[in-house]
Amino acid sequence: MDFVTLGELLIDMFPAETGRHFSQVTAFLPKPGGAPANVAVAGARLGAQTAFIGKVGNDFFGEFLRDVLRQENVDTRGLRFDDDARTTLAMIAQPSAQHNEYIFYRNPGADQRLRPDELDRALITLARALHIGSLSLSAEPSRSATLQAVQWARAAGALISFDVNFRPALWRSPDDARAQISALLPHVALVKVNETELELLTATNQVAAGSAQLLARGPQIVIVTLGAQGSYFRTARADGFAPALPVTAIDSTGCGDAFVGALLTQLTRADSRELDARLPAALRFANAAGALTATQRGAIPALPTYPETLALLAAHNVAIS
Ligand code: ADP
Repeated sequence: MDFVTLGELLIDMFPAETGRHFSQVTAFLPKPGGAPANVAVAGARLGAQTAFIGKVGNDFFGEFLRDVLRQENVDTRGLRFDDDARTTLAMIAQPSAQHNEYIFYRNPGADQRLRPDELDRALITLARALHIGSLSLSAEPSRSATLQAVQWARAAGALISFDVNFRPALWRSPDDARAQISALLPHVALVKVNETELELLTATNQVAAGSAQLLARGPQIVIVTLGAQGSYFRTARADGFAPALPVTAIDSTGCGDAFVGALLTQLTRADSRELDARLPAALRFANAAGALTATQRGAIPALPTYPETLALLAAHNVAIS
């Protein structure tokens, strides 16, 4: 197994119209989503062997989501069904192409009810990497389940990857979010933030200074994604910027997940001693996957395949080796 992702698998309810706030949207269209699940699908489309661990409701949406993952060749042996809570819904408004607003129907939703005793330990220790986000840290028992999985994967020598993926609506306060997210940083090898998350965690929007601050808090690799500008990495020995590939962007949903899925397909193939050397090319590849995802609406439907990603890189003469 190349990598396992753990966290939320849910229904994204996309607005029928963009350029509107919630109060003006006339209808919502259900699409499969959830950042860690998207990352597993992104990896599978790019040729990696991936699995997803999480919980959905024992309802129509839950079965639909399991079927979607199976069709995408994501291993679902770690997926659990909850008899007492519904599959989580994320209602989305898109007042602009670069900005989504969310209301989560999750009081509680099945995703936050994953328990440590429901984890498939063999699956976790089999993987070269474990990827998590912060939604599963925002409530119990999914927080304990996440921390347990991280502990097992670390002990087995896996690379732990963490996308901060901050959703203010899900936390009691920004301070609570900061505390839970910060507590995990010493236990992960790679942390990925966007500019908003960088500022939340470091109180600066300066990429070089903020990433250095995050690095000092434990991770070996800090990645900052910069939307249409590209992405940046920092390790103890090096840092670098990879420019974005130019595309006609219509919806940024899932760009960060495509980016992480693509990055992990590259990093899980490298020897851990070569990670520094591999990062610049891995960022260029991940930028291409992120850019292609911006060209279509929705997350999973927009995730590119390996040949599509190589074609975009070739069209712009960008080398990845
Ligand atoms: P997140 O979804 O985590 O906020 P970003 O929006 O920064 O992440 O997107 C992740 C990556 O996807 C970026 O680093 C970039 O490479 C690519 N990307 C996103 N939006 C665009 C865009 N409009 N044009 C080109 N590439 C993009």
